Amino acid sequence: MSSAFVRYHNELAELMSIHKGEILQCQEIHAIFKKNFPDYDKKYLQPSDHCVDHTNKAPCHCSTKITAIFSRIQRGVYRVI
Ligand SMILES: [Zn+2]
Repeated sequence: MSSAFVRYHNELAELMSIHKGEILQCQEIHAIFKKNFPDYDKKYLQPSDHCVDHTNKAPCHCSTKITAIFSRIQRGVYRVI
């Protein structure tokens, strides 16, 4: 089930596709996103909502699935998968 507070899955997946295998901090992910979508709403973009091995209360539809964007290394640190 996806949350009303999760957006930008497709945009994020596309931006992260050139960073596959890289380990990024939450701030770096936001910086990359902001560069491409300057008007985005920060509260709707949480990398932890798009993890294959971590889930939040109301994550993105990709959470824990093969379509997930990140693997969570630790709080605020993610590997692009
Ligand atoms: Zn997602």
